[in-house]
Amino acid sequence: MKKLKEFDSEVWQAIQDENERQQFTIDLIASENITSAAIQEAQGSSMTNKYAEGYADRRWYAGCKNVDDVEKLAVSRAKEIFGAEHINVQTHSGSQANMAVYFSCTKPGDKILGMDLSHGGHLTHGFGKNFSGLTYDVVHYGVKEDTGHIDYDQLREIALREKPKMIIAGASAYSQIIDFKKFGDVAKEVGAIFLADIAHISGLVAAGLHPSPVPYADFVTSTTHKTLRGPRGGLIMCKKEYAKKVDQVVFPGIQGGPLMHIIAAKAVSFKECLTDEYKNCQKQTILNAQAMAKELQSRGYVIVSGGTENHLFLVDLRNKGIAGRPTERLLEKAGIILNRNIIPFDDRSTMEPSGIRIGAPTISSRGLKEEEARQIAAWIDTVISSKDDESVAENIKKDVHELCKKFPIPHLEN
Ligand code: PLP
Repeated sequence: MKKLKEFDSEVWQAIQDENERQQFTIDLIASENITSAAIQEAQGSSMTNKYAEGYADRRWYAGCKNVDDVEKLAVSRAKEIFGAEHINVQTHSGSQANMAVYFSCTKPGDKILGMDLSHGGHLTHGFGKNFSGLTYDVVHYGVKEDTGHIDYDQLREIALREKPKMIIAGASAYSQIIDFKKFGDVAKEVGAIFLADIAHISGLVAAGLHPSPVPYADFVTSTTHKTLRGPRGGLIMCKKEYAKKVDQVVFPGIQGGPLMHIIAAKAVSFKECLTDEYKNCQKQTILNAQAMAKELQSRGYVIVSGGTENHLFLVDLRNKGIAGRPTERLLEKAGIILNRNIIPFDDRSTMEPSGIRIGAPTISSRGLKEEEARQIAAWIDTVISSKDDESVAENIKKDVHELCKKFPIPHLEN
């Protein structure tokens, strides 16, 4: 980054500091991951200079041959991974992917049925201050209080009673396998459109480690930057019959020029998805999440839904006499980065929730295995158990630093 350092030392310095932070902290944020050097090179390329409104071979500008090539590669690789009939790789984010799907087949005021935010759903699934909650008449399903698993009977009951135009499956904080066939059956029974939002689990789906919704859903959306391990962005898959409409909503409906450098980076990340290294990393992600959850359970922590079958889990801290926010803060002092999270049937607010969310994508991408995952869980316990003595967290920070040194992120080394 010589040119950047010369021209703008402030931004250069912030990036150096961020590299250092990522290199020497343990990132347990379930929605984050580490992109490869190849992805970052594509993302930092000349394709950022190019306007390419429209779609490959149908652009509104000249000079699009090369960006057409990368967009076609991204689409064909995504099709090879997910087997969807139609794919749009242009949305700038997961939220925009969901917006494009909603706008392509619903009208303002229509009823939509999504997972309750406090039970693991996402803001775009009907939260009041999100465009989804502001535009639609929203009803929610959730999880069962005794098991923490999705209440499929309740889902069907609500769907039969409310007759929603669209049913949304998918979550940001749910650690069990989602039965997409059941969702599809309920949607069919009530004549609803079925959207599966696999933003969190798409890497696992790509690796064949979580059942795919593609055979059952009218639309499938995802982010490209969580378990999928690509650049920040969105992805829409759908049945052929919806292709034209959804493409029109993305452009010219809600976006202008696509981010061609990001689409190039998406193409690279999809190539990675097809490798054995990637599949093994996704397997390890689940093993690492399970190792951390089990270690915490053995130390008296309550894991929402009893454990995990994917890359993340929620810890209910109510029996530990500490809430999510102070835990997040204390762990950051130890160099362990995660987020506070509302838990199902929480008696506290979203801002001051009773839980934390723990995810394994980043530690798995940098090569940590179950032994290290258990060690991290032990450190989390030690920090929480010594909540009145912050020097404990500060001491653990040194061990965290040593562990990170053993598992460097090679392309972030200064
Ligand atoms: N859908 C789900 C299930 C998510 O968890 C997220 C992000 O956390 C999104 C959609 C939105 O993605 P983005 O942050 O790219 O808008």
